[in-house]
Amino acid sequence: MSREVVLASGNAGKLREFEEILNPLGYTVVFQKDVVGPLEVEETGDTFEENALLKAQAVFDRCGKMVISDDSGVVVDALGGAPGVHTARYAGPEADNEKNIDKLLYELRDVPEDKRTARFVSVVCCILPDGSHFFARGECEGRIGFERRGQGGFGYDPVFLVGDKSYAEMSDEEKNAISHRGKASRLFVKLLKEREKQHADQ
Ligand code: IMP
Repeated sequence: MSREVVLASGNAGKLREFEEILNPLGYTVVFQKDVVGPLEVEETGDTFEENALLKAQAVFDRCGKMVISDDSGVVVDALGGAPGVHTARYAGPEADNEKNIDKLLYELRDVPEDKRTARFVSVVCCILPDGSHFFARGECEGRIGFERRGQGGFGYDPVFLVGDKSYAEMSDEEKNAISHRGKASRLFVKLLKEREKQHADQ
């Protein structure tokens, strides 16, 4: 029998990614709006974990079903960790990817190559039907380029470099093998399987 997991997001890309991970484990992923109706959760936390839990908890409190959420962003050393949890709205409330990248390149305009270190972080939060939760965190070390490179990807992909390639110059498989989200997803599956096994043993 397939079990339902509610995704605390309205993002179709995230739904697809989680379906790919969870369908083979016997789970069906559904949007929060189809279970609890419209819901806006303010991401007021100071950490990726806090924000991922805020999003998941709001949905769990309304349905009591298994919930997953994720929160991600880029942490730039020369900017004291910014944009961090504010990555999606770095250039303001109406920001889009292009404006966010423009602002990042501007803020780093005088920063030399060896000081442009950064990491992408992804945190998946899962609340189980008994109300307990766990996190899976994935990180990918890299640096911010001086200009956009590559055609693929989304978000900050063209300016996040790992080795000699930007995320936007990698194939999906290449990126997934090293990316923050790929690592968080693989850890999430491992931890979920461990929880399932503990539950079955009880
Ligand atoms: P979230 O949906 O609140 O987690 O937003 C995360 C922010 O980080 C958005 O601005 C995304 O565009 C950006 N982001 C997250 N993961 C990636 C990635 O793999 N490549 C580029 N940008 C990303």
